[in-house]
This record gives sequence, C-alpha cells and structure tokens, in this order.
Amino acid sequence: MSASPCCGSNAVATVASYRCKVVEHYWVNQRYKYIRLEADAPVARITRAGQFYQLKCPTTLEHEPFLLRPMSVYGAGPEDNRVEFLYNVTGVGTKAMATLPEGSDMDIVGPLGNTFTFSPEYRRILVIARGVGLATMAPLIRDAAKASVDITAVMSARSSADLMEKEFLRGASADVRAVFDADGTSSIEAMEVLLRQLIEEQRPDAVYTCGSHRLLMLLQRVLGDYPQIIGEVAMEQRMACGMGVCLSCVRLFDCDGDRKFLRVCREGPVFPIREVVGEVEFG
Ligand SMILES: Cc1cc2nc3c(=O)[nH]c(=O)nc-3n(C[C@H](O)[C@H](O)[C@H](O)COP(=O)(O)OP(=O)(O)OC[C@H]3O[C@@H](n4cnc5c(N)ncnc54)[C@H](O)[C@@H]3O)c2cc1C
Repeated sequence: MSASPCCGSNAVATVASYRCKVVEHYWVNQRYKYIRLEADAPVARITRAGQFYQLKCPTTLEHEPFLLRPMSVYGAGPEDNRVEFLYNVTGVGTKAMATLPEGSDMDIVGPLGNTFTFSPEYRRILVIARGVGLATMAPLIRDAAKASVDITAVMSARSSADLMEKEFLRGASADVRAVFDADGTSSIEAMEVLLRQLIEEQRPDAVYTCGSHRLLMLLQRVLGDYPQIIGEVAMEQRMACGMGVCLSCVRLFDCDGDRKFLRVCREGPVFPIREVVGEVEFG
C-alpha cells in the first residue's frame, strides 16, 4: 500500500489544448448539467481521477466569460476521445456553457493537476461527497469498482432532490449513507458520529473527500485518531490560469511542520487531508 504523498506530489504531466464537439448535453436536475465532449485527439487514456480541465465557455448575448473555467473530469472513455463533465450552473461562465447546443464546438485545456492516491490492493475506500465534489470523485468510484475494492459513500446534500446518487455511482455498488441539511443528518455533529462509526466498523484503507470545507476540517480531526488511514481531499479553490503561473489559487499547507503556500492547480488539486491549514474566518 502506498502512503499518501506529502503536499500533492502525485503529479501527472501531459497537458494540451483540444477542440471538442459537444455530443451530449442535458439537465440532470434543476441546477446541474451533464456534458459529453468528443475531443480531436485521444484524452481518455491520459486523464486520471481527480484531474481537471480548463473549459472555454462561449460568449453569448448575455454573458462574456473571460477566463477559462476549471472543471473536474467526471468521466473519460470508453472511447479514447471522450471526456465528460457534470457542472453546477452558477455564474457567468457556466450559464453561458449551459447554452451550448449539441453539435457545437468547445475548447478545453488539460488534463491538469494531480490524481488521488489509490491502489487496487485496498480492501475498502470511504468517500464523502457534497455538491460538485460528487463530479470530482465519480472517476475514483469507477476505479475502485473496476478493482473490486469495496466502497462506502457518504453523500451529503440539501435534500433528497439534490442527492444525485445515480450520477455519482454510475452503476457501481456501494454502501451508501445519505445525509441531508433538511433533516439535520448532515450537521457536523451528526456526521462526526456517523464517520467515526463507519471507520471503526469498516476500517477503510483510504478516505477521500471533496466539496465542503466543513467536512474537510471534520475529517482532519477524525483522521487524527487513525494515522494508518490515508486521507485525501480534492480542493476547489477559485483559480485563473489553472497552470501554476498566476498564483491566484495558493493555499497554506503544513507538510510535517513545514508551512508553505502551494498552488491548488499545480501541486493539487488533491492534497493529504492532514496537511490542509484551515481557512481563517474573519468578522
Ligand atoms: C479543480 C476544480 C474542479 C472543479 N470541478 C467542478 C465540477 O466538476 N463541477 C462544477 O460544477 N464545478 C466545479 N468547479 C467549480 C467551478 O470551476 C466554478 O463553479 C466555475 O468556475 C464557476 O464559474 P462561473 O463563471 O459560472 O461562476 P462565477 O460567476 O465565477 O461564480 C459563481 C459562483 O461560483 C463560485 N465559484 C467560482 N469559482 C469557483 C471555484 N473555483 N470553486 C468554488 N466555487 C467557485 C463563486 O464563489 C460564486 O458563488 C471546480 C473548481 C476547481 C478549482
């Protein structure tokens, strides 16, 4: 079993720009859209779970997105030129992207960033996802299912209408525990009880999360009691270039007592949970 690397060093190299055709594009629920692209060159075999692409969203009459927008790979393959994204329609870029008809063109740059630490030798993984974190971790679910590694998925959402369990598992079997804001089961207190119980009973080899800073901080505390379990988070920091140049996405990390700023786009987006320094809350 490989140990989680210090401060996001699972680097993956090949980056290129691709002209893609939108081949499928539809609403999954009221807030999320699924898009499948066909690139002009093979992308699936060089794309890993946890990595992301920078998407060139179109200019419309209403929206003029300037920067490319980072999106985690939701799926890649089985065809070599196929890549998929699941995205929350939230602001200028994603609203413009949501208007793209099937058959239109879209440029993407990637794959960017590093990947999760994962071994087919693991017995079980525990995945804790909320919101867009679900899109980021879906390829990890696929890798685990392919390797017959048992999966426990704790899915947190506002309500059952936002859960997207089918989109997350994509046919994989998992021990799913759904928690909701609507009934209080997603509160930090309730989640701490649930996570400690799952870890005690199931002893996962690795724990992964994405999509919630509060859950990340909770996991950091809980995993403090289980030093043998690998813990990783895919971080969603606001970023501009996505390639390590502009430094707009730096975050503070503590690597064995050595505090340093690292670029989420370049050294991440996957980092050991234990090394993230929590955000300071002002006011
Ligand atoms: C590595 C990475 C992977 C991501 N993967 C996905 C994904 O798979 N699916 C998905 O829906 N979103 C994902 N995001 C977030 C996505 O990039 C932003 O939601 C998107 O850029 C918003 O663009 P916009 O122009 O529509 O919104 P804007 O008008 O720029 O912002 C609208 C809202 O989104 C928030 N936002 C903007 N950028 C980010 C960001 N980088 N992270 C978190 N919140 C942000 C803003 O605070 C604001 O509330 C990812 C972000 C990163 C850094």
